[in-house]
Amino acid sequence: MQRILTIIGARPQFIKASVVSRTIKKTDGIEEIMLHTGQHFDANMSDIFFNQLGIPKPDIQLDIHGGNHGVMTGRMLAEIEQGILEYKPDRVLVYGDTNSTLAGALAAAKLHVPVAHVEAGLRSFNMRMPEEINRILTDQISDMLFCPTDTAVRNLDKEGFASKPVNVLQVGDVMQDAALFFAQRAVAPRDFIVNRNFVLGTLHRAENTDDPERLTAIISALNHVHQSVAPVVLPLHPRTRAAIDKAGLSLEVNVIDPVGYFEMVWLLNHCSLVLTDSGGVQKEAFFFGKACITMRDQTEWVELISAGANHLVGANQEEIIAHSSTHFGRAIEDHQHLYGGGNAAERIVEHLV
Ligand code: UDP
Repeated sequence: MQRILTIIGARPQFIKASVVSRTIKKTDGIEEIMLHTGQHFDANMSDIFFNQLGIPKPDIQLDIHGGNHGVMTGRMLAEIEQGILEYKPDRVLVYGDTNSTLAGALAAAKLHVPVAHVEAGLRSFNMRMPEEINRILTDQISDMLFCPTDTAVRNLDKEGFASKPVNVLQVGDVMQDAALFFAQRAVAPRDFIVNRNFVLGTLHRAENTDDPERLTAIISALNHVHQSVAPVVLPLHPRTRAAIDKAGLSLEVNVIDPVGYFEMVWLLNHCSLVLTDSGGVQKEAFFFGKACITMRDQTEWVELISAGANHLVGANQEEIIAHSSTHFGRAIEDHQHLYGGGNAAERIVEHLV
């Protein structure tokens, strides 16, 4: 029996791990131990995903959040090490690009436990993003690199991975598995009252929330889009709420609390445009045939830009408004093949076994 220790801690990781975890459960010869670092801990950022998506209750529940990156990552490293020593996994499985990802990979590699990285090879080429640092270092110490796209494989090739004794595997994107699987469970958020075509917004990247100038421009643009294009529905990340309060800004759109995945899938399915700085939401817009405007200067999902489905506007107020107006209601052609078609989890588990 092969024992996998899965490390998760943040919202997108719960969604990604849910589909792999479900596949592991159906597969002989492999068992999963779940470790939740506690990086996201609010009920609507964590518990709701475990309940809705059927993720097994964590075998190890840490309570590590807040503080600077060094403190958070360091504490995780120490406690994940204990978990690895206790459960003696054959392999550690990490997802994406958060501090939980890097701490999990590093703790394992130092104990000579092989690491598998889901979402390997993604690059924004912006080393000021904490996510970029986390993903580059995690890839370096993984021996099974599950890439979601051809671009991700090419990025690793350019970094010399083709000549290393590791497995670089293009398996497709687990986010597509999740979007397809859970679309049937979509449900409107409680008390949802917008009865016109609307824009779905999300905003949480540190590069936007922690830079007062960018944050001010984005909030002002969202207010403008809400007034002049269509109602903006914004499930607000707790960190963004705190940053907006701190900067004394006023958000005049339909702000709602962060929603569960079933509600998010409903919003994606019913909106007429997506305005986001999220990684995952850029692709989900595409899976649901919606145009996406991305409030970042780079994206890891470059194939969506080439396909004309996604447009980068940075934190430029005029561009956010102009692109929102141009692309509102525009349907996106079907390019579902770009992300593997929805069986990434099965391919990952086959390789793990
Ligand atoms: N999401 C959600 N509820 C929300 C906002 C986002 O379920 O209120 C989902 C979203 O659909 C996507 C994931 O959370 O699957 C993305 O997480 P996030 O934007 O926090 O992180 P990123 O993808 O940028 O790493």
